[in-house]
Amino acid sequence: MTSEDPQEEFSIHWIRDLVDKVVERDPDEYLIVTGKSMSGSVHIGFMKEIIIADVIKRELQVLGKKAKTVFISDDYDPIRSFPPSLTLSPDEYMGVPYSDAPDPHGCCESLSAHWTNELVEAFPEFGADPEVVLQSKLYETKEMIDAVRICLEHTETIREILVEYVARDFDDKQKAEYIESMKTWYPASVICPECGRLQSGGKGSIVPNRVTAYDKENDEVSYKCAHCGHSDTGKLDKLRLKLSWRVDWPAKWHVMQTTCEPAGKDHAVKGGSYDTGLEMSRRVFGWSGPVKVPFEWVRLAGRDMGTSKGNVFTPRSWLNIAPSELFRYMVLRTDLEKANNIQTDLIPDLVDIYETFERTYYGLDDVDSEKQDFAKVLYPNTEVRPVSDEYIPKLSFKFAVVTSQLQEILSEDTILERCYDVLKKQHNLTDISTETKALIPTRLSRALHWVKEFGSARDIVEVPENVPADIISTFTDDDKHFLSKLVEVLHIDELDEDEIQSSIFNTAREVDIKPKRAFLLLYRILISRKSGPRLGPFLKLLGNDWVLERIRSVL
Ligand SMILES: [Zn+2]
Ligand SMILES: [Zn+2]
Repeated sequence: MTSEDPQEEFSIHWIRDLVDKVVERDPDEYLIVTGKSMSGSVHIGFMKEIIIADVIKRELQVLGKKAKTVFISDDYDPIRSFPPSLTLSPDEYMGVPYSDAPDPHGCCESLSAHWTNELVEAFPEFGADPEVVLQSKLYETKEMIDAVRICLEHTETIREILVEYVARDFDDKQKAEYIESMKTWYPASVICPECGRLQSGGKGSIVPNRVTAYDKENDEVSYKCAHCGHSDTGKLDKLRLKLSWRVDWPAKWHVMQTTCEPAGKDHAVKGGSYDTGLEMSRRVFGWSGPVKVPFEWVRLAGRDMGTSKGNVFTPRSWLNIAPSELFRYMVLRTDLEKANNIQTDLIPDLVDIYETFERTYYGLDDVDSEKQDFAKVLYPNTEVRPVSDEYIPKLSFKFAVVTSQLQEILSEDTILERCYDVLKKQHNLTDISTETKALIPTRLSRALHWVKEFGSARDIVEVPENVPADIISTFTDDDKHFLSKLVEVLHIDELDEDEIQSSIFNTAREVDIKPKRAFLLLYRILISRKSGPRLGPFLKLLGNDWVLERIRSVL
């Protein structure tokens, strides 16, 4: 693995081009909206949408515009299935809005609130601060009830739009069936006051409690519950209604007056739900709708994410193994409509790449002006906190990977001291600033989590308490001769890592064993393996006293 970066394909202009397009709307306040349905723990990939919105907001603010981001938790959708780990009975809650189901974890006011909170809590750590709106609460507002009314009044227009867009690629027979089914179709469903459901059935057999008639004059809605059979007619504002999903989106745009909303490619595809929504914005709500910002999904590749066990890799999971700045960087450096494939097994290399990029921003490395311009535009948008005037040196992630695994051998103070030594050497420092020191514990903890979850056999450093007897028994007299000599050399001086490395070579030569054998012996003694981290730094890290005692234990 080299530090060559295969994914660097950023067009420096995409952020600027996008913001130019958004600025043309010129509202009093720019509203960049994001949204997610709440049917389980939310995957880290969704943070791409949050970050795109955040960057548009930041850039608008740089231009002196008033702008904010909003996150809508789509918690009003009916339950269609449960994640495998959930203890609630699917039969009892199928068809009930997520926001009406209890939180089996016992901590939040509803099932969807649990997943919403889990996601929202991570926003600040990813540098985002959207206003959080719950779709279930939005539907209780006068503005949304008015929007539902507008949709019911325009049922005919909405039917036409859906036939035009949804049936576009149907064959004649399918198209005829669809048109027939749309003749009695209304764009909203009712939550049954008797059984609390919005629809009956599970995946594959869903029947919504669709509105069956709307009396405009009396503002009354008729409906029949597909689950319990209850049917009634009632005042629109006394019932709990929810718009069909293709209609719900433009209605929210209208109510929020959304300036701009990013959307993943499944929704943003030509003629898809975004375009249908824009058509409804024009023909039902009488305005242009938001600026469409299509983007490609983020994929995480590498080791098993554990999704098969029902564990989703959440934003919190990311924060356990890597800095959020790295995620922002990975998302932003690539054109929006290109997929991001983040190799979790390469996190230490990716952190290196990000931190080289950071030094470019601060003008610390000698690089061409194109790279510098790139860093000037992008770096401030990757940072979670206000950009510091001065560069804050960071402990090498790769060093942290090795060091964090030695916490059972070395004391906490020793580990910190070793980190300071390495920082001083790498960044040519005489003192370590408080800011730099403050970052070390998190870096060590992330490195340790990373190696446990995604590290390869090569990255894992396990030091057994004693050198196993079956290893000692393989040592020859020549081997032992070499080891005793090495003890003498190491014993005399406090050597630095390069000197340790070369003294291993020299001692091997002196006693006439192959350097390869010498290294193998030391790895066997230290970690019971044939290879491992570079020996000089590794021995330095373990400390002279510990190393000498270890070697003596086999002699
Ligand atoms: Zn909870
Ligand atoms: Zn019912």
